[in-house]
Amino acid sequence: MNLLNHDLNSLNKYFLNIGESNFRATQVFKWIYKDLKMNFEEMTNISKKSRLHLEKEFEIKIPNVDSHHISKDGTVKLLMYDPNDINNKYETIYIPEKKRGTLCISSQVGCALTCKFCETGLRGFNRNLKTWEIVGQIISTRILLHSLKGYSHHKLITNVVFMGMGEPLLNYKNLLTSLKIILEEKGLGFSRRKVTVSTSGVVPKIKKLKEDLPVSLAISLHGSNDSIRSRIMPINNTYNVESLIDACEFYLKFSQARSLSAPRPFITIEYIMINKVNDFKKNALELVNLLDKKKYKINLINFNRISNSKFEPSTNDRMKLFKELLSSNGFVVTVRKTRGDDTNSACGQLSGDFMNKIKLPNKTSFFIDGQYR
Ligand code: SAH
Ligand code: SF4
Repeated sequence: MNLLNHDLNSLNKYFLNIGESNFRATQVFKWIYKDLKMNFEEMTNISKKSRLHLEKEFEIKIPNVDSHHISKDGTVKLLMYDPNDINNKYETIYIPEKKRGTLCISSQVGCALTCKFCETGLRGFNRNLKTWEIVGQIISTRILLHSLKGYSHHKLITNVVFMGMGEPLLNYKNLLTSLKIILEEKGLGFSRRKVTVSTSGVVPKIKKLKEDLPVSLAISLHGSNDSIRSRIMPINNTYNVESLIDACEFYLKFSQARSLSAPRPFITIEYIMINKVNDFKKNALELVNLLDKKKYKINLINFNRISNSKFEPSTNDRMKLFKELLSSNGFVVTVRKTRGDDTNSACGQLSGDFMNKIKLPNKTSFFIDGQYR
């Protein structure tokens, strides 16, 4: 059994069951997630007898790095895989800035949602990533960054975003366990604000995440009304704009039970600018009517070109006008800079490397927690 598939609570239970002491799980967690020690031999504050015992019961496995490419701007794109499953490779992107480093991680190999602007989605879906493959992307990247000589950019991972391959909310069980490890103080120790789950709008799971473990949320809206959104994002036929905004309102609601221990959740609305598709003045004004400027920050992303698509990025003038319309109506608007596009590691350009794609089901069923629903 791979230790990295378990959050601290569940590991505690396992360890107690096999007769280990009650602080053993915490010790092992710290060695793995803080000190990046991936074998029991190096866990020197654990007795030799216990180490041998643990070795028999568990394995510690992280993804292998198949290759890495560094862009001119310092962005590092890593291709990872499980040596027992070499046909399913997935991508992780490290984006350094002056004072922070953001790691963009994948949650699935491919994606079943077929958004028309997204390279990942247009290539089909293979499988969910396991918990160890999700948190392992953070560890394997840390180890690689440590080993890079002559890399002069920021090297620490300060933020984690689920914006790589796949729809995280359609791999909910593994996402949740991963989030527990990512947020665990004795684990990876990120704060809720620094961890963002990006979703195309799987409404029931947005509500569930609010109840289970609310972190920052990014909503891939990309259309200001149902007709345009359904055209470019088939998921809108199942969960339309109104139901999505309802779910966001629910997510943001003040929750008495959590008020003392957790900060309020935070939502960013992501909006890709596709030339003459969703970037008209009318669309900006629809967004103004749809969204509460006090609750949502809007992030405009210029469309990154993908293969076999007629879509073009918005022109600078259209982008500027769109942004001004939103700002002059009181919205906080940011424009996401494209990073790493010389190595195809900009958003939506992630295609991984996977074969044996299964046939996609009809467009209204989704692969949730291991089965089509
Ligand atoms: N499935 C999730 C997370 C992965 S996609 C989601 O859709 O939110 C991460 C982000 O990249 C999303 O906001 C997605 O809409 C955006 N994206 C996809 N294709 C893109 C493209 N060609 N150009 C710019 N952004 C793109
Ligand atoms: Fe899947 Fe997100 Fe790409 Fe849509 S944008 S196909 S949901 S990865």
